[in-house]
Amino acid sequence: MKKTIPYGRQNITQEDIDTVIETLKSDYLTQGPKIKEFEVEFAKYCGSKYAVAVSNGTAALHLCAMALGVEQGDKVITTPITFAASANCIRYCGGEVVFSDIDPDTYLLDIDKVRALLEASPKGTYKGIIPVDFAGRAVNLEDYRKLADEFGLWIIEDSCHAPGGYFKDSNGNNQTCGNGNFADLSIFSFHPVKHIASGEGGMITTNNEVLYEKLLELRTHGIVKNDNKYQNSLEFAQGVENNKESNSENYPGWYMEMQDLGYNYRITDFQAALGSSQLKRADDGLERRRELAKEYFTNFADKDYIKGQSCDIEGHAYHLYVIEVSDRLGLYNYLKENNIYAQIHYIPCHLMPYYRNLGWKEGDFTHAEEYYKMCISLPIFPTLSNEEQSYVIERINSYYEA
Ligand SMILES: *Cc1c(COP(=O)(O)O)cnc(C)c1O
Repeated sequence: MKKTIPYGRQNITQEDIDTVIETLKSDYLTQGPKIKEFEVEFAKYCGSKYAVAVSNGTAALHLCAMALGVEQGDKVITTPITFAASANCIRYCGGEVVFSDIDPDTYLLDIDKVRALLEASPKGTYKGIIPVDFAGRAVNLEDYRKLADEFGLWIIEDSCHAPGGYFKDSNGNNQTCGNGNFADLSIFSFHPVKHIASGEGGMITTNNEVLYEKLLELRTHGIVKNDNKYQNSLEFAQGVENNKESNSENYPGWYMEMQDLGYNYRITDFQAALGSSQLKRADDGLERRRELAKEYFTNFADKDYIKGQSCDIEGHAYHLYVIEVSDRLGLYNYLKENNIYAQIHYIPCHLMPYYRNLGWKEGDFTHAEEYYKMCISLPIFPTLSNEEQSYVIERINSYYEA
């Protein structure tokens, strides 16, 4: 096959393009109505009360850490098998990242290990947990909520891999990722390899009104524009002495206050419009991903050189289709020679030089490190054709059966 096959890619339709062009011709390129529209639609999709759109998933994580008040030295637990941003957001606020190992069957943060960590220190040692819906497999947040409540922790769900994914709660109900029922905050990314693409973009969902309002402020420099929340006096705001010349009890139209040190983490209106347009097709994309996953699973089921593949996991959103193989390097290079660009997710975060310099080392997490030696993510995205997928499967089999 001449065409290269990546592990993931966006799907842009004519309708997406038209929507963006329409927005470019409108009065607002940013800070306009498309942002709120996208937020309302996305909150509805997840089943949360609130959503805040931001410039990317990393900014979403940073704002969450700020809104939850992460400070110098605060300890927060996360998984080493994730994109670095899940951990970095704690470092941005001066906090301390405490990694904990994965469950080798699910590849998710192992809750029993997290419990053991929490029980080994006095209560109050840790401030929060950041579980990641790795590859699209939804974390059981009901269990995490119980644990978090026991130890007084908050939860940020990194749901970048799993919009539309869900887990079954103890009553047998589907709990959609980012629905706000268990996590304090959930975050998503709209990078082109993710389910919904807006170029760069991100979202935070929550059911907590206080956190929601805090996030809106922090997204725009920490600026507050609300008469009931001002800290400076009315006289100061109006610029008159002792109310002498004032004929109004209201703060002037121009007035605003920067009350906290925030950022400019806004998304633009044309990105939000693209996100909204993509969101309409999210369920179709999810269905296609599940179909492709099933096809891989079926074809590899009787191959003893392929391990760890996962299928028929209800609620899995299949951002990635991960398998474990021996001679992974050989397979990776062979696929590349055949124009198939598989990828590795992830190099364990605790072994990145930055985190090694903070004291983490090889041998800290057996399961994560063993997983890294064997994992490879195969192409999976809605526009991957059956023919392309068959070619990927055939090449893999021919590599091991040659
Ligand atoms: C993509 C991703 C992020 C970061 O999102 P960006 O939009 O690229 O900043 C964070 N966490 C995980 C698990 C991701 O996959």
